[in-house]
Amino acid sequence: MRIGVLGAGQLGRMLALAGYPLAKTFVFYDMSGNPSAGLGEVIIDRDSQYLDDFISRVDRVTYEFEHLPVDVAERIAKEKPVHPCPRALQVCQNREAEKTLFGELGIPTPKWGIADSVESLQEAAEALGCPVVAKSNTEGYDGKGQAVLRSPEDAAEAWQSIGHPRLIVEKFVEFRREVSIIAVRAEDGELAFYPISENSHHEGILRYAIAPAPKLEKHIQEDAERYIKALLNELDYVGVLTLELFETADGLVANEMAPRVHNSGHWTIEGAMTSQFENHIRAVSGHPLGSTDARGVSCMINIIAEHGDIERILELPYAHVHLYNKGERPGRKLGHVTVLADSYEELVWRVKNCAQFLPGCPEFKSTLSEQ
Ligand code: AMP
Repeated sequence: MRIGVLGAGQLGRMLALAGYPLAKTFVFYDMSGNPSAGLGEVIIDRDSQYLDDFISRVDRVTYEFEHLPVDVAERIAKEKPVHPCPRALQVCQNREAEKTLFGELGIPTPKWGIADSVESLQEAAEALGCPVVAKSNTEGYDGKGQAVLRSPEDAAEAWQSIGHPRLIVEKFVEFRREVSIIAVRAEDGELAFYPISENSHHEGILRYAIAPAPKLEKHIQEDAERYIKALLNELDYVGVLTLELFETADGLVANEMAPRVHNSGHWTIEGAMTSQFENHIRAVSGHPLGSTDARGVSCMINIIAEHGDIERILELPYAHVHLYNKGERPGRKLGHVTVLADSYEELVWRVKNCAQFLPGCPEFKSTLSEQ
């Protein structure tokens, strides 16, 4: 079976690496002009000139990023199965649509409002109570196009800095930690859920993901599964879906979802019975799903901007290095390392031992260091 992937970055690369053992082959369709997947065939096409050619060469189509034109996905869906469905893309590209859907499905969100002018931004900040986070309603990701308002008087400056005609304004959530749940749904509706991961960010970029999240109450995993299940079934979804959440003193609050394999799930390559990438390929291809159980405990460390001393990390028997074959650049994801252990105690020192070889890697902080 030939799988077409819209996008040709590291997620596509890892999808292909998981698909080859199942005898899948891959054709990547790159609209950026800058593919980095480095595997399979790549069609570079900035203006849909070769889209028909791409469609004719594949059996099923999936995507590795959500900021692609919905009409391209819809056009493909008329001829070949596209998983996840284009509606999932539509929802993820619009924070208002996403938060509305969460509300309809009973998934808790921060209190939110919409602003389309400086005045309405100020009013929303007053109504919700500061601090609030203003975000561009479309085209925002990884904390870009966002501003925190400490008081309604910050509205003019925030409006100016975001520079977008429509904003979603959210009450600032006082979270204990950020977490995510990744789940997969097969063509026949079978579901599987990975253990929640604890995610820590620095300068808007994920740095560490620990899974299963330590000190997690059982009902939190169950709540997350219920929420993501509601989304998967509502969207008649096929493939891997990620839901990013805040854990608060009152339980989980949803931030956003991503209709794809996710950076917070890279630990599953070595840390779970079946990786998120393999399960996505299984689902998209119409196969049964694999077990999502964790093997021991894991921590994924992102390699950002600089490669660091990879040779030293390769010497560590518990570290698995993944490089994406990309050039160094500030803020760029170049690879990741997954550290495996049998206990959280062992995981902490192993992660610290590994991170010392990655320049610019922020200090490892997690709920594991809390009493
Ligand atoms: P997003 O682009 O929506 O994923 O937001 C990027 C980051 O901003 C998140 O990972 C959080 O750390 C932070 N953030 C976003 N929304 C909120 C919120 N309502 N309250 C507190 N922090 C937030």
